[in-house]
Amino acid sequence: MPLVREINASKVRAKKDLLRGFPVEQQRVFLREVTERLGFDYGRGRIDVSLHPFCSGTGADVRMTTRFNPDEPLDSLFSAIHETGHGLYEQGLRREVAGTALGMHAGMGAHESQSRLWENQVARSRGFWRFFEPRFRKLFPEQTDNVSSDDLYLAINAVEPTLIRVDADEVTYNLHIILRFELEQRLFSGALAVADLPAAWRESCRELIGLVPDSDRTGVLQDVHWSDGSFGYFPSYCLGNMFAAQLWYRARSRCVRSSKRISRAAISRGCSTGSAKTCTRTVAATI
Ligand SMILES: [Zn+2]
Repeated sequence: MPLVREINASKVRAKKDLLRGFPVEQQRVFLREVTERLGFDYGRGRIDVSLHPFCSGTGADVRMTTRFNPDEPLDSLFSAIHETGHGLYEQGLRREVAGTALGMHAGMGAHESQSRLWENQVARSRGFWRFFEPRFRKLFPEQTDNVSSDDLYLAINAVEPTLIRVDADEVTYNLHIILRFELEQRLFSGALAVADLPAAWRESCRELIGLVPDSDRTGVLQDVHWSDGSFGYFPSYCLGNMFAAQLWYRARSRCVRSSKRISRAAISRGCSTGSAKTCTRTVAATI
């Protein structure tokens, strides 16, 4: 993958291990403030802890989860922002048509586009951190004392191939989807036997991501999808990424100077067409 190779060869490296020892209670405070600012209505939902973050429920009662690790403060935050994107989509659906097809999401690709848009296009942007960084530093003064703004921004946008899909960065994430989708195609065409799947996984993983898992736990068994019969689901994530990029492109052209508005946190107070939610709905309506 030329782009991944180019990034890996760059002299600019993210120092991810700079972020250590972030107390969970403060992490909880920060992510609550961030997700509320993004527009999540905690009167119609909540966030708890689970091993693998998820979002379920409906707009009337959204249940989200994240996970905490003192040495991975960005993981809990970005997991929560991702799930908040799903939650905002559900909370934004029209209540008067709830229970009908009009009150449902437009497929999982559209759902993932909302989670990925808030997670990647918005929350990894300079503007977002221009607004939230002072509060982040105030909550974690000792932990961020030796971390410059540029180091923080680089850590937030680090690109580094990983064996685990849910930990993957924006650039290499889609390679994990290609890996799974190609194996699914081979399985269903009969070209690959289930018994040969672990070995085929290792081979494709080496080819696409440049890493080889030393156990099936970090290889073919890492996701829940296939074990519950969800074949063909993985491309939803990839489609979601592409929809999100297009929506954001559209939002930037429709909502003037959106990145400047984010840095002023105008995101929750409104853009030129109304509130942030109205703004994203306007954009979503153009799909
Ligand atoms: Zn998701």
